[in-house]
Amino acid sequence: MGLLKRLFGGSPARDAGIYLYVRCDTCGEPIRVRINPGTDLSPVYEGAGDDEAGYELRKQILGNRCYKLIEAVWRFDRRKRPISSEIQGATEITAAEYEAETAQPGA
Ligand SMILES: [Zn+2]
Repeated sequence: MGLLKRLFGGSPARDAGIYLYVRCDTCGEPIRVRINPGTDLSPVYEGAGDDEAGYELRKQILGNRCYKLIEAVWRFDRRKRPISSEIQGATEITAAEYEAETAQPGA
C-alpha cells in the first residue's frame, strides 16, 4: 500500500494540513489555525469496540491583536473531517469569511 501511495499520491510523507478559522470574541480578529492531522489529532474511543470513533483536537489559540487566550476543542470524524467545535473566547468562521477580511486589495 505504501508504495502505491508513494507513486500516485503526490507528496507522500506530507499529511495535508487542516485549516480552521475562528474570530476572537474580544477583539474581532479573524485567526487561521493550521493543524497537522498526523500529530495534532487524538483518537477518541466510544462504545464497545476498539476502533476509534473519531478524533479530537484541543488547542489554545492566541491572536496577534490581543492577549486573550482562546480555548478550543474540535471533534473530527474517522476521516478527520471537522464535525463540531466548542470554542471559549472565539467563534468559528468559514474560510471564505477569513479570506474576505484578511485580503488586502491594493495594499
Ligand atoms: Zn483577540
